[in-house]
Amino acid sequence: MSTVRHDWTVEEVEQLLNTPFNDLLFQAQTVHREYHDPNAVQVSTLLSIKTGACPEDCAYCPQSARYDTGLERERLMEVEAVIEKAKAAKAAGSDRFCMGAAWRSPRDKDMPYVLAMVKGVKELGLETCMTLGMLDDKKADALAEAGLDYYNHNLDTSPEFYGEIITTRTYSDRLNTLANVRNAGMKVCSGGILGMGESHKDRAGLLAQLANLPVHPDSVPINQLVKVAGTPLETQGDLDPLDFIRTIAAARIMMPASHVRLSAGREEMSEEMQAMCFFAGANSIFYGECLLTTPNPAANKDQDLFRKLGINSEHRVTKAPQELDEILAQPEQNADLFYDASQQSAQTH
Ligand code: SF4
Repeated sequence: MSTVRHDWTVEEVEQLLNTPFNDLLFQAQTVHREYHDPNAVQVSTLLSIKTGACPEDCAYCPQSARYDTGLERERLMEVEAVIEKAKAAKAAGSDRFCMGAAWRSPRDKDMPYVLAMVKGVKELGLETCMTLGMLDDKKADALAEAGLDYYNHNLDTSPEFYGEIITTRTYSDRLNTLANVRNAGMKVCSGGILGMGESHKDRAGLLAQLANLPVHPDSVPINQLVKVAGTPLETQGDLDPLDFIRTIAAARIMMPASHVRLSAGREEMSEEMQAMCFFAGANSIFYGECLLTTPNPAANKDQDLFRKLGINSEHRVTKAPQELDEILAQPEQNADLFYDASQQSAQTH
């Protein structure tokens, strides 16, 4: 087995990213096969439970109140409505339900509702994940006690480039939240965004930060910037797709047991590029029509791609496969089975 390390230097990661492409992908695929079923991809569904009007200034995010992106602001969803969406996600084949709120951090008065959502979704037999912004130790403990399995909080980029993207919270704020989540016994979901104008070295720096955490995040979302009109990164140049694939491969090699997740930006990726990402070691996706507020490939397109690639969803299917296929083939007629996050945001916190 390749070793699980926590002592990567940025220079070493840069070298890894610069490895000849075929060698890098071969190495990544070899590691992938040591730790994972090479033909299985984990599937999660994401719902925005509170959209827009966020006081933070993340330059990529249409949910920031500082940018005029035309996004409709919404209040925190009712607990019952969230549970209904979770039931629909379960019926459509998801095994993990992620709930995201555009907050700097949850307020005390929000907590009873959020905890009720965790308990309600958990009772459906789904794994639960939330992304609510920064957490102190008490709120992290309360969420863990309610049964929250995963907490998402991204590092976004390298510590050096971070100040170009966010000024309202620090890199150490983010690391503190991750420590509180870890100490509360929840699994960490943390990754970053590529294509924001960061250098090659910044990508190496982000990966080194993630891999040098005391415990590797269970889930590592690698997002491609979605250039939303009205955000400061609206006119950012395109990321070279090969650089994106290289980063996925390096993440797989450095965090061999983690799930590397293809997240925001998948809508803009061809089937061939997604296939290369799976080959490079990505083994998790968000499933459904939208990823918070940006388009996500329709669920049946994902099923088509999985079929073409011989990939199995790494989840408990609650309906007979044939019945599920019929549902997925007609998403319009089965709109209730798909969460509607079309009013909501691109990347998670
Ligand atoms: S990424 Fe999260 S914290 Fe940043 S502006 Fe968007 S919703 Fe707020």
